[in-house]
Amino acid sequence: MIPRLYVPVELKPGLVFPAAERAAHYLRNVMRRNVGDPIILFNGRDGEFAAEITEASKRVVEMRVGPQRRAQMGVPDVWLCFAPLKKDAVDFLVEKATELGVAAFQPVITQHTSATRLNLERLAANAIEAAEQTERLTLPEIRQPLSLRDMIAAWDPRRRIILCAEAGPAAPIATALSELQPSVSISNAWAIVCGPEGGFARSELDLLSNLPFVTPVGLGPRILRADTAALTALAVFQSILGDGALRPPAPLVPIGQLPA
Ligand code: SAM
Repeated sequence: MIPRLYVPVELKPGLVFPAAERAAHYLRNVMRRNVGDPIILFNGRDGEFAAEITEASKRVVEMRVGPQRRAQMGVPDVWLCFAPLKKDAVDFLVEKATELGVAAFQPVITQHTSATRLNLERLAANAIEAAEQTERLTLPEIRQPLSLRDMIAAWDPRRRIILCAEAGPAAPIATALSELQPSVSISNAWAIVCGPEGGFARSELDLLSNLPFVTPVGLGPRILRADTAALTALAVFQSILGDGALRPPAPLVPIGQLPA
């Protein structure tokens, strides 16, 4: 397995630079890689590059960038607005939603939200690791938490909301999203909004469901955990309105097998 790493640097062929502590530790101590070993680098903006290790010591792990192997490719413009959950659930949610191609996480504090403290740094690190493993070329944005009211007050109505509504009127998600397809708004910007463990307050569901840019959707007859619900909605979204029809890119040719 060729290590694939996110590096926040301008990537261009020939560049030689030292790995930051996290990457150096991973390459040297976890993956036990050495000089000449191939690696894959991406920075979230310029696509993906073959690269190789040029120095591997206790002091430094240096890498040389080779040719670009994949052009930059984004993900659909879909946000996940989720109520903070207990630590393990939110770590799981961020990892899996990153794999499922979410563009941004917007934590939203609702009336029944119990966990209000979020370690955004840890969530960003989780997202980077998930993006490395899932071969994404972008990183999802992790935003500062907002109250539901503040979020809606500042909302751009061109971004349609798919509201996971465990109560009240709601069409089955697959039907609702298929019907949205023909009238996709020009900005083609989306958000999935999901409630906390304690669910939405009825007044919140009423407030949201009456907004013209909100489509309440049902996720079936069972009450799903908040992380399950968010991931279910995101997976269905990608299949119907997102990039679910695309195929993974052809496997990379490691630097050692590059044509001369
Ligand atoms: N009120 C319940 C409770 O106290 O456990 C359930 C809340 S549920 C765990 C958390 C969120 O997941 C809900 O607010 C809703 O956004 C979403 N959700 C769960 N099951 C759903 C379903 N069958 N249809 C639509 N949304 C659902």
